[in-house]
Amino acid sequence: MADKIPPSQSIDWTDDQPDPDRKWYKIISVKPRERLSSIIISRKVVGVYTHWIDAGTQPHMKNEKLCQGCRMNIRKAWKGYLGVLWGLSGNITLLEVTPECVRLCPALQGKTDLRGMNIVVFRRGVQRNSPMQAEVTRMNQIKGLPPEFDLRFHLCRLWGLAPDHFSEEQ
Ligand SMILES: [Zn+2]
Repeated sequence: MADKIPPSQSIDWTDDQPDPDRKWYKIISVKPRERLSSIIISRKVVGVYTHWIDAGTQPHMKNEKLCQGCRMNIRKAWKGYLGVLWGLSGNITLLEVTPECVRLCPALQGKTDLRGMNIVVFRRGVQRNSPMQAEVTRMNQIKGLPPEFDLRFHLCRLWGLAPDHFSEEQ
């Protein structure tokens, strides 16, 4: 009994700060004949090269030898993400935008502070993969808007990667 550690000395006290991003945010995609309207939380689009593997998006890795998509010879594609407050549900979600969206919408091209602006996304056709288009308008709805959050962290989690995966590479 002498070497038994008392419970009070076994508690895992911590000086670490709690993880502010405990929630999981979903990625929403727009269906044909639908117009998704959201308020943008992020300041700009986070872009990433991706591969479409097993009916899902996976990020392309800088080192092609370590990149599953490159090793499988799958074409890489740019995708952009924004943190938004989705109008219908009021939930924080991640909105995916395509190169076409950015090309046709000057506000998404990096020089505009998007926070508080309204974004509407829709498809220019009836197919599930018809080209997506975005319209951004100023709404000035910053008051009461949720704080900015680290989109890269949330994307890494959705992709099943350690949150610090990218920060190690930077
Ligand atoms: Zn790759």
